[in-house]
Parts: sequence; C-alpha cells; structure tokens
Amino acid sequence: MKVISTIKELQSTLKNLHQSPVGFVPTMGALHKGHLSLVNAATSQCPLVVVSIYVNPTQFNNKEDLRKYPRPLKKDLSLLGKVLRNNDIVFTPDDKEMYPAEDKRIFRFGNLDNIMEALHRPGHFNGVTQIVSRFFEIIRPDLAFFGQKDFQQVAVIKELVRQNRYKVKIAVNPIIREPDGLAMSSRNALLEPSVRKNAPVIHKAIYTASVMLEGKDIPEIRDYVRKTIEKKAGFSVEYFEIVDDKKLVPVSSKKQMKKGNSYYGCIAVRAGKIRLIDNIEFQLV
Ligand code: AMP
Repeated sequence: MKVISTIKELQSTLKNLHQSPVGFVPTMGALHKGHLSLVNAATSQCPLVVVSIYVNPTQFNNKEDLRKYPRPLKKDLSLLGKVLRNNDIVFTPDDKEMYPAEDKRIFRFGNLDNIMEALHRPGHFNGVTQIVSRFFEIIRPDLAFFGQKDFQQVAVIKELVRQNRYKVKIAVNPIIREPDGLAMSSRNALLEPSVRKNAPVIHKAIYTASVMLEGKDIPEIRDYVRKTIEKKAGFSVEYFEIVDDKKLVPVSSKKQMKKGNSYYGCIAVRAGKIRLIDNIEFQLV
C-alpha cells in the first residue's frame, strides 16, 4: 500500500493508476475490526481502495473529546498493511491540507438536524459533511463504505450525496461487536475498566427491547431500556429513540409502525466520561 499525505500526490497517483471502481473508506484511525470490515468489503468490490485516516476537528463539538481521541498511526498502518494491496492508498492528511482556510459551509438536512445525535452534538454533522464532501470531491470515489454503527451519519451522508448529486454509491456494513456484545468503537479504549465491564449492558438492553416489541408498546420498552442501563453506576442514557430507517422519524407507539418498513432503536449513553452509541433493528412481527 502507499501512504500519501498531500492532496496533490493523492490525485496524481489516482490518475496514474486509472482503476475503477474506486472504493473509499473514511476513518478517524484507532482502527479496530469494525473499520477493517469496511476495508475488506471495499477491497472485495474495488480494484483500488483509498482509506483515509484523519481526526476531523470540525466534527468534535467537545474540545476535550478531540484532544483525547486516540491516534495510534503506526499501529493503524500495520493493520492496514495486512488487508490492503500494493496499489491501495492510505491517505493521512494534516489539518492544513484539509482546511487551508476555515470551512464556513453550512449544510441543512431537514428532520435529520432535529433528532438524536444532531440535538446532542450540535455542529457534529455539519463537520462530518464538511470533511466527507471534501474527500468525495478530492477522491471522486465510485463507492464509499460506512458502518451501520453510525446509523444517523449514514442517513446524513446519503442526503449529502442526494443534495450535491455526487456520483458515489454508499455501501453500509453491519455493526461489528466485541464477543460480549459491546459495539466496537475507537472510544472503547478510553473506558475505565469498571465501566468497560458494565458496557455490554447497552447492547443487551436494546436487544431485549427489540424482542419486547412483540408484547409491549414503545413507552414501556423505552422505560425498560433507560432503567436497565442506568442501574449501572456511572451510566446515563442521553436518548433512546425508535425511528424509521429512511427519514428517521421517531415513533412513540406501535400503531405508528408499518409492517414491511424498517425501524431501528438508536441509543446514546454516557458511560463514565465516555459517550457511546449503538443501534439495533426493531421488527414488527
Ligand atoms: P470512525 O473512525 O469512528 O469515524 O469510523 C469510521 C467508519 O467506521 C464509520 O463509517 C463507522 O460507522 C465505521 N465503524 C465504526 N465502528 C464500527 C463497528 N463497530 N462496526 C462497523 N463499522 C464501524
């Protein structure tokens, strides 16, 4: 694989390699098996893959979170070396390269701006779309790979592609979990041991909630999730919403759910000092 850190070199390399389809996997590094599943999906479908490693400052609404974000570049490159091929590219730009001037663009996403992550992390998706649109315009990938783990992000990126008429297909890959059910995340490494021990409660609670849908209605299910998780010391639920997978409109009763439509229960939890998100499909049977 080639490691490239300037846009100029990246674009001339892409031009010289002249391969298609080009696959793109954006990451902020601190790679785990969730990221690698996206990279493997990309290499299986694309003869040329670009993986970016860039901790994008504009998507952090919390300065401390940005400062603490893990950046084990050497380890990341060694992991990617095992799954990427000779021609594939790891793009590792710095802030000056990605933001030569302040990015003042404001993106609007309708209902997606008024729920869940958008409410609890103001400005987060604006930062995500600033950087992803920059990458799309620099790399011009045919396929871009995202994780279902960031459920609302996928909806935002699809809307970004629609609004800007980007010619990129968005591929979504399932959540990769630790053996105890905790969704893999670069932030898991920052959990205190006692918090890490209790963190599987998040997946357990939303999984049980998805099974409860058969006999119970949504207010009771939401109550169950909050109470179960908040029994653990240091855990508090920021939100838990059951939303449809297209417009992400929350449903407050089973009567609002339509058979054949897809729904996801999405959760954000403060686990000690760390914020974790997860989601699971809710099927009406
Ligand atoms: P990040 O480095 O956190 O920005 O994530 C880069 C990409 O990896 C995003 O598309 C995430 O949704 C995806 N991702 C992160 N964690 C997981 C996971 N546990 N399973 C699948 N994809 C993931």
